[in-house]
Amino acid sequence: MPLMPFDIPPSSNLIGGDWICSDAKIQITDPSTGHPLTQIARGTAADIDAAVAAAQVARAGDWGRMTATERGRILTRIGQAVLDHTDTLARIEAQDVGKPLTQARADAVALARYMEFYGGAADKIMGETIPYLDGYTVYTLREPHGVTGHIIPWNYPMQIIGRSVGAALAMGNSCVLKPAEDACLTALAFAAIAQKAGLPAGALNVVTGLGSEAGAALASHPGVQHMSFTGSVRTGEAIQAAAAKNVIPVTLELGGKSPQIVFDDADLDRALPFLVNAGVQNAGQTCSASSRILVQRGVYDQVRARMVEAYNALRVGPALDDLNLGPLISARQTDIVTGFIAQGADLTIAAQGQIVTDATGHYVAPTLFADVPPDHVLAQDEIFGPVQVLIPFEDEAEALRIANGTAYGLVAAIWTRDGARQMRLARALHAGQVFINNYGAGGGVELPFGGVGKSGHGREKGFEALYGFSTLKTVAAWHG
Ligand code: NAP
Ligand code: MG
Repeated sequence: MPLMPFDIPPSSNLIGGDWICSDAKIQITDPSTGHPLTQIARGTAADIDAAVAAAQVARAGDWGRMTATERGRILTRIGQAVLDHTDTLARIEAQDVGKPLTQARADAVALARYMEFYGGAADKIMGETIPYLDGYTVYTLREPHGVTGHIIPWNYPMQIIGRSVGAALAMGNSCVLKPAEDACLTALAFAAIAQKAGLPAGALNVVTGLGSEAGAALASHPGVQHMSFTGSVRTGEAIQAAAAKNVIPVTLELGGKSPQIVFDDADLDRALPFLVNAGVQNAGQTCSASSRILVQRGVYDQVRARMVEAYNALRVGPALDDLNLGPLISARQTDIVTGFIAQGADLTIAAQGQIVTDATGHYVAPTLFADVPPDHVLAQDEIFGPVQVLIPFEDEAEALRIANGTAYGLVAAIWTRDGARQMRLARALHAGQVFINNYGAGGGVELPFGGVGKSGHGREKGFEALYGFSTLKTVAAWHG
């Protein structure tokens, strides 16, 4: 089977419903082997101009005039079409980003779920009537921003397209999507599937290329009315600065250093798989990865021993072999992660998983550090690789201090049977999502998601995202 069986011409962007071939190209590679995979278009500022113009035309035309119910039907059809292509999308993603097949398949199913969810929600968002002065009727209208820009990272392309483009389309916006250069293929495949399922031309435009070129052009484009960004803090700052110049709202989702807090009374049998998986899923390249495991002294040795056992069983290899972990996305990311592991030379490595391939891809053994001081760089910085740190604590107050003691605030989990403690900590934790006796790295289409602090601001996913991808108009009518 060809890599991309969707009639997409090589090295092309989707602009206004047409696949436009680009003279400038970027060679991309398979992270499992380091070998060339295919070429993508190196989009320019002119391509972004054309995509924004096409999005404006769609807003002014059929797409902009369509009823919410019909938009919802189209999204629902796209969801079904994505489900029909789950295996194809998973194989593309596995080769493009090195994601083990089972995890890539889960992302494709999540993408379909987003389309179903936002398809169903599209005609259920309503305004209000507001009691006001005698002789007036006042009501609110939820309206699309217009053209929304979407700059997404390489770690969960399908899920992040689902949550941002899905919600934006449901509200009637037209989208311009700039995927990460290391992970463009499922974005292109999705756009092709959506078009075949009936999405009107120009409602979704995709321009591939470099962040510093196509990405920067999109973020600063005066024709864009809302920017949704997921990625690093540094780029997030640039996106927000560019948006400030155009005075448009932004949603920033910038990663985290998310803790799971295990108390002496926790159900360890239930907790164990969540403690490990939330750190090594997608080779730790997950914004909501749980990279800090805080454990109360009474069960610390037991949790450590059981996590060591789990780490010893982890196997790392090519994405198509579908082991526990695939490669990291790139040589650059491998350098960053191994650099962090080297900074733990003064610490105890409790366990490492095994690389079980001779392939020349970007492999890093998952690594568990024990007895890590909370102020150590490995307990403070986002590593974005398969590295977790175990941190012991004495009591609830110390656990809270450590958990809240980083610049980030994306996700946190509490493992305890004490109901009052669950409620206290759920309020006190500095995080956009708190899980009690579970952990939801990446999951939960229905659950509003986003951070506080350096993890960003704004919420995507769930019904809440529809408010972010729309603006409120108040209409006050005097009729006497
Ligand atoms: P990044 O540079 O922030 O990239 C994210 C997206 O922004 C990509 O589409 C990228 O395009 C684009 N971009 C880069 N520079 C841009 C600019 N000046 N203007 C507009 N768009 C721009 O992140 P990365 O380099 O891929 O990863 C670096 C670190 O970011 C990771 O180590 C991790 O800590 C963090 N990260 C977080 C998440 C998350 O989910 N929160 C996801 C991925 C990475 P190109 O890739 O094509 O250049
Ligand atoms: Mg790739």
